[in-house]
Amino acid sequence: MRLNVPLTDSEELAAIGEVLESGFLTQGPKTAEFERLIADRIGSTSAFGTSSATTGLHLALHAIGVQPGDEVIVPDFSFPATANAVIQQGAIPVFVDIELDTFNIDPSLLERAISPRTTAIMPVHAFGLTANMSAINEIAARHGIPVIEDAACALGATHRGREAGTLGLAGVFSFHPRKIITTAEGGLISTSDPELAAKIAVLRSHGAVRGSHFMSFIDAGFNYRLSDIHAAIGIAQMRKLDFILERRRSLASIYDDLLSDVDGVIPPSVPEGDLHSYQSYVVLLEDDVDRDAVIDRMREADIETTLGTYSMHLQPYFRSRFGIDDRELPAATRAQRSALTLPLYPQLENGQLESVAASMRQAVAGSRLRP
Ligand SMILES: *Cc1c(COP(=O)(O)O)cnc(C)c1O
Repeated sequence: MRLNVPLTDSEELAAIGEVLESGFLTQGPKTAEFERLIADRIGSTSAFGTSSATTGLHLALHAIGVQPGDEVIVPDFSFPATANAVIQQGAIPVFVDIELDTFNIDPSLLERAISPRTTAIMPVHAFGLTANMSAINEIAARHGIPVIEDAACALGATHRGREAGTLGLAGVFSFHPRKIITTAEGGLISTSDPELAAKIAVLRSHGAVRGSHFMSFIDAGFNYRLSDIHAAIGIAQMRKLDFILERRRSLASIYDDLLSDVDGVIPPSVPEGDLHSYQSYVVLLEDDVDRDAVIDRMREADIETTLGTYSMHLQPYFRSRFGIDDRELPAATRAQRSALTLPLYPQLENGQLESVAASMRQAVAGSRLRP
């Protein structure tokens, strides 16, 4: 059993063929249609397809004016693209610890991480569960610091009834095959700020604006566009979005039930009023369980599992550059060691989760560090 299998069929194939036949391949009408579908769905005014979430995050940070040497606050527990986007802007990621029950940035630690150099706060919606945006936005507003959501995993997630991607000044989704919907590679920036939208539109495509005959280059921009081929896949995927979210949520709730009485396994918890997108179903193992041994035992049962995600300060680049002591980020350090992702995708049948849970019971019992 694989960890994740993207849901694609003849609709995506036909969509690609249609674009190829049109002869218009790069960012064009399909990208515009895809952007409109997402913006309408989540309730934002503008959306800009990008070549990935990583380029989208970098573009968003650049467009809001983050400068070399500035500080950008991020949670320590995330796919390292979050911090790499900050580094690419010449800025410094400031790692804040997480809450172990949600795997999201701990708002109670946010204020003390803010310095006069802080120019953005970039919470991550871990595995598709929105960060505590109410608390984060309240602190950010008090300090006048913009908030950019790393919503890579969170298409369809909501915080107190509001959609991920509309909870900050801008939000960035990913359409990598591991995410909620896919365009193979791709991302999207959502914002309802007209001034920021205008900057992003120009910077995404070479800093160019259309003149009467030729382009005029008004900024040193990027080429971070999403092609019409990728966007066409995304349009077909949007027709599947409700089904995908519904399946992911109902499978997650079956996992919750099955795993609630498995010793050593702590299922994920969702704060009251929030709606998880379950890009990944990630459990925390008790401290005395050898997570990597569990992964090996699950593989023997032909079930693919993996770590949750990365504690970025532990990765070689960040360790050698910033040398942060694990004791400053204890929850993220623990999560890197003890979080485990289980298979979850819409094509799984309810009954298959029973065999995952049964294998987990055995694998965890056999992987205790103390007898
Ligand atoms: C996947 C992911 C990214 C990177 O997305 P790409 O589209 O592959 O660039 C960034 N942040 C988080 C939290 C992710 O999960």
